Amino acid sequence: MDYNELAELIFPNAKEIEYYEEKYPERKLEEGAMVTRFAPSPTGFVHIGGLFGGIIDKKLAEQSKGVFILRIEDTDQKREIENGTEQIVNSLKDFGIEPDEGMISENEEKGKYGPYKQSQRKEIYQAYAKSLIKRGLAYPCFCTPEELNEIREKQEAAKIRPGYYGIWAKYRNFPIDEAAQKIKNGEEYIIRFKSQGREDRKIKHKDIIKGNIEFPENDQDIVIIKADGLPTYHFAHVVDDHLMRVTHVIRGDEWVSSIPLHLELFKTLGFKPPKYAHTATIMKDENGSKRKISKRKDPEAAVSYYHEEGIPKEAVIEYLLNIANSNFEPWRRANKDASLSQFELQLNKMSVSGAVFDMVKLLDVSKNVISKFTAEKIYDEALKWAKRYDKELETMLTVPNKEYAIKILSIERGKEKPRKDISKWSEIKKSIEYMYDDIFKNNTNYEFQKITDINEIKTILKEYIEKYFNINDDKQTWFNKIKDLAENMGYAREVKEYKQEPEKYKGHVGDISTVIRVALTGRCNTPDLYEIMQVLGENSIVKRINTFIEKYKT
Ligand code: GLU
Repeated sequence: MDYNELAELIFPNAKEIEYYEEKYPERKLEEGAMVTRFAPSPTGFVHIGGLFGGIIDKKLAEQSKGVFILRIEDTDQKREIENGTEQIVNSLKDFGIEPDEGMISENEEKGKYGPYKQSQRKEIYQAYAKSLIKRGLAYPCFCTPEELNEIREKQEAAKIRPGYYGIWAKYRNFPIDEAAQKIKNGEEYIIRFKSQGREDRKIKHKDIIKGNIEFPENDQDIVIIKADGLPTYHFAHVVDDHLMRVTHVIRGDEWVSSIPLHLELFKTLGFKPPKYAHTATIMKDENGSKRKISKRKDPEAAVSYYHEEGIPKEAVIEYLLNIANSNFEPWRRANKDASLSQFELQLNKMSVSGAVFDMVKLLDVSKNVISKFTAEKIYDEALKWAKRYDKELETMLTVPNKEYAIKILSIERGKEKPRKDISKWSEIKKSIEYMYDDIFKNNTNYEFQKITDINEIKTILKEYIEKYFNINDDKQTWFNKIKDLAENMGYAREVKEYKQEPEKYKGHVGDISTVIRVALTGRCNTPDLYEIMQVLGENSIVKRINTFIEKYKT
């Protein structure tokens, strides 16, 4: 028996590889166009690091007029969950990431280079494995788990490199006839790659992010097809990235040590390898030391978290680009209002050591991003979020009506210096609840810092509402009247005047407006008080102030 016959015995139905080479021709794209792919496993969890990679893949393809593929790597069926693909598709969609090719729902896909789920590409992998067996570059291995264990134990005892290689590779040079006989007897086996590498030789590789790296060659006879007929990741990604004509593989740096093996596989199969970019793992700072963001310890590791908290996708993407690329921040400074699509991501400007994920910074970015949204956009997004996660907020946004909510959300918005106090939809309720008469409660035990005399406080409010307040005043008149009130009661009209001669005054205009603010809103920090009053309207203002006068510290 020869290699050809052995290959026929193992994969009698596999097609010739030429069939696939013709079926998936080189792509006709513009010079420089990048074909990228995001290739997650459907384990029911999209990690923030996965989203990070997905954003980079999508961006690079988009900005180079290339193709972004979503491929599902489901060859480890033990780890798979039901509807795992759907979950990935939807999680990415939540962030506006839709593939040009690949999976678009649990079972639907688009594009001519599919199938895009590895479990449906079994026959393709087998065709390439068969071609290797024919060339004597892959072989069946009949080792049982016990035998593999035994090999490992021996290696450990002798303190030598573990693995299935060289003299340890029991079936590497096994007679073909005997192998065929075992197969015919129904013995279980897997297919291994017959490495031609040597550990004492080095390979050089240029990674787009990590730069030049040098590794010993691979000499392990790794498994390429498992006992269930499905390929391992190593083999599948090589075949897929070749046939899908991927130009750039961007993946986590846990794969960088597999580079010698992957390059050897590409070479042996006669494929041109893609360019590799290994991205640094996203880290978290914990009491001064860095560690990986973990699925177990950190809720923010799952992308569903951002959705649940109501952090807008634009903010998450902006933040991830921020930690991805050192040229993002200067770009943003120079282009404050530009859309993210105008930013050109440069792979060689990616962070080489772990990018540190900082929630405080993300929320800060989010505040900025939200500050540029129109009131209508905030309304729509917050309502969508509230419908799913917060019924009370939903009520606030719809009762008495949408117009009232929009007025509230418009306070200090759409101006050169818009308010920046909202970082996520889950904060909106707290930040607007005092604007609703049926929710608002007078803060009648408030401890004022400056003016502490209860009667003085009540007099200020009484004077104000009886003599100075007029809902039709414009902002300047409104403010002048508060100054008049201050002056008439012995307070400085301007803070500056007060600071120059503090002994001359009881306090200043700011102390007076604090009293009015607290009576009207229950808090001392709010957006612009004039705008708030315009939205509240005369009735509500009069009622709130009178109730405060009546109930304050009684
Ligand atoms: N399925 C692999 C993973 O989830 C993909 C790695 C790659 O992008 O090649 O880690």
